[in-house]
Amino acid sequence: MILLDGKKVSNDIKNEIAAEVAEMKVRGEKVPHLAAIIVGNDGASLTYVASKVKACERVGFESTMVRLPHTTSELELLQKIQELNANDDIDGFIIQLPLPSQINTQKVLMSVDPSKDVDGFHPENFGKMALDMSTFIPATPFGILELLERYNVQTKGKHTVVIGRSHIVGRPMSILMGRKGWPGNSTVTLTHSATKNITQITSQADIIISALGVPNFLKAEMVKEGAVIIDVGITRVPDETKPNGYRISGDVDFENVSKKASYITPVPGGVGPMTIAMLLKNTLLARDQKRMM
Ligand code: NAP
Repeated sequence: MILLDGKKVSNDIKNEIAAEVAEMKVRGEKVPHLAAIIVGNDGASLTYVASKVKACERVGFESTMVRLPHTTSELELLQKIQELNANDDIDGFIIQLPLPSQINTQKVLMSVDPSKDVDGFHPENFGKMALDMSTFIPATPFGILELLERYNVQTKGKHTVVIGRSHIVGRPMSILMGRKGWPGNSTVTLTHSATKNITQITSQADIIISALGVPNFLKAEMVKEGAVIIDVGITRVPDETKPNGYRISGDVDFENVSKKASYITPVPGGVGPMTIAMLLKNTLLARDQKRMM
């Protein structure tokens, strides 16, 4: 079994980006600038945004964190987004999800300038991705593709089973794994909560990408010998032995599934760090595209 070490690969990517930024500085060019909007005080969201800001510092990007109270109205958020859309200094920005219930998430994501949509959530970018056009690929699926590529995991002609059909992971992943190209070119089955006999489906898979958010959902008996396992799940499970009172669990019963897998991502240290690295890559792309306009 080979561990798909997202921590190591994401560090390699950050080093590559940092080297590019250092060259920009030598040439006297403006460095990429990523902004993040966070609404409210959700602990997990604050942690994610803080790690994105830290990653920006690490590679030499500029970063701006916009914190808004949980009582922020939809109109106020839309106004803030318009400000960032119009701010020439900012190359890309993200809106940390989930948003409070008074705000319509779809309306908000639609209001982001597609050329600054480094999360790749705008329908224009999602549509381009589905049509194999160059665009921002959502960071988590992009990170999974990068992991498969850097470990030279073969995907052509394989049967990939994706568990979960969210707009940010499962759905785009199913499109990307089925596209003509590499990584891709596999035959994809997209499963969800209404799927019947899921074990029958997963046990035929060469590659399983699990993104449902149910700790230890994928058990050894659901997996065939030699399968490639990508665990996207990140769930906080109460654990009194930990200083913060919880531990992070993936969707996969790692201890037992890893005995059958050919490649597997750990949680933490697998897909999670890749997501942040690919957000940086998308910001770099946004900056480069702006300079070409
Ligand atoms: P989500 O919006 O929470 O949706 C979960 C999906 O799983 C839905 O499509 C749901 O089906 C499906 N599902 C739920 N129970 C199921 C079951 N028993 N059998 C089969 N499918 C089932 O998904 P998400 O936002 O993609 O998040 C999934 C997990 O990935 C979470 O743990 C999240 O924290 C994690 N995540 C990690 C990263 C990272 O960087 N590593 C990034 C994003 C998300 P229905 O559509 O039928 O409801």
